[in-house]
Order: sequence, then structure tokens, then C-alpha cells
Amino acid sequence: MSNRRGLLIILSSPSGAGKSTLSRRLREWDENVLFSVSATTRKPREGEVDGSDYYFLETEDFKRQVIEGQMLEHAFVFGNHYGSPKGPVEAAINQGRDVLFDIDWQGAQQIQNSDLGKHTLSIFILPPSISELRRRLESRGQDSDDVIAKRMQKSWDEISHWAEYDYVLTNDDLDATDASLKQIIAAARLRRIQQPALTEHVRNLQMEFEDRT
Ligand code: ADP
Ligand code: 5GP
Repeated sequence: MSNRRGLLIILSSPSGAGKSTLSRRLREWDENVLFSVSATTRKPREGEVDGSDYYFLETEDFKRQVIEGQMLEHAFVFGNHYGSPKGPVEAAINQGRDVLFDIDWQGAQQIQNSDLGKHTLSIFILPPSISELRRRLESRGQDSDDVIAKRMQKSWDEISHWAEYDYVLTNDDLDATDASLKQIIAAARLRRIQQPALTEHVRNLQMEFEDRT
């Protein structure tokens, strides 16, 4: 086991608020931040790579993995199943690496209530306004008008869970949000529970203290 226990960093937001952009910046900032590649029954979008963007599964395989307990959490979002495979997360945090999850509020709740909940840091990203959220979805140029309308409709459902998160950031200026996110992570890495080696360090301090007094 490493000196440090890794964090499970959950980023949630309505679609378009900026979590993919922020998550990309975090991974560039520190190679010890790994991205949790979700499994989904959704069909790949153009350019998406199996095993890198998502693990694209048939519904039957997805359901089997859930039954076998291979998913840390899972949810039904926009008509498809999504879930976070458990194995890679446990391996990473035992090596002292952090795992970043881009998941919705249902997944966030399940992870926070799981055995690994105490190692979780959850952050909700709000847009500065609803009109700016729509502008970002449109400017991303990735979705049809139909899909944008569907995402906008779902956005209030996601935003209504903002108070269930440890931190809430309004992503107005991207650089400022990015800086705040890194400060939050730096502080969470220093939580007592993330530092298993402290117990032995304090034991050594005690022995030295008793030898000298
Ligand atoms: P999400 O992953 O939450 O759906 P994205 O990260 O894809 O959102 O961001 C949606 C669009 O908004 C992208 O085109 C991105 O470049 C842009 N964007 C993200 N953050 C900001 C910001 N603070 N100011 C302006 N544009 C932003
Ligand atoms: P998309 O299909 O646009 O990639 O993702 C749609 C939604 O599913 C997003 O809100 C995203 O956060 C959520 N999502 C992606 N992967 C997972 C996952 O593994 N678990 C949960 N609960 N939600 C996910």
C-alpha cells in the first residue's frame, strides 16, 4: 500500500456546464489523476473509442456485470445504462492514485453511500446562467437540436441535486474554476483518512518521545 490513499473525485453537472473540459485539465495537471472509464449500453458517437471514452456493452452484458457486483454504481440516464467498473478504482486508490468520475447525481449518491464513501470528494459544477448553458451546448457542435433540447430539459433535474455535494463551483471563468478545483483536491489529499502512514509515523514519534523523556 502507498503512503497515500487515493481519492474518488466525483464531478457532476448538467450537460454543457464544463465538466469534460475541467476533467481533461485535471488529468493534464497530474498523471496520478486517472479517469474512470464507464461502461454504457449507449451506442458510440463518432470519434469515441471503446475502452477509452467508454466500454460499450450490450444490455445483457451490462446487466450481468451489475448482478456479479462488478459495478461500483450504475444508473439509467437518457434512456441508456451507465456504470463505473469497480476493479480499476480499488487498484488505483490502493496505489495512492486518485480516480475521477464524470457521473450523474444517482451515481454520486451510490458511491458516497458505498464502502469507499469516506474516500470520496464530490464537486458539483453549476453554469453561470441557463442561457449560457444552452450557448455552450450549441457551441460545442456535438449534438443535434433534438439532443440539445433533451439535455436542456434534463438539466434542472441534475441541478436540483447541487446541495448533495461537498463543493459547488460556478464555472463562469474557466481558469478560475480550474484553479479552485485543484485547490480543493490538494486539500482533500491531506485529509487524515487519506494518509494511512500517519499511524506508524505517530507511533515512531511516541517511541522517540518516550526514549527521550
Ligand atoms: P460537459 O462535459 O459538462 O457536458 P463540456 O466540458 O463539454 O461540458 O463544455 C461544454 C462547452 O462549453 C465546450 O465547448 C467547452 O469548451 C465550453 N466551456 C467549458 N467551460 C467554459 C467556460 N468557463 N467558459 C466558456 N466556455 C466553456
Ligand atoms: P453521455 O451519454 O453524454 O456521455 O453521458 C450522459 C450522462 O451520463 C452524463 O450526465 C454523465 O455524467 C452520465 N454518466 C456517464 N457515465 C456514467 C456512469 O458510469 N454512471 C453514472 N451514474 N452516470 C454516468
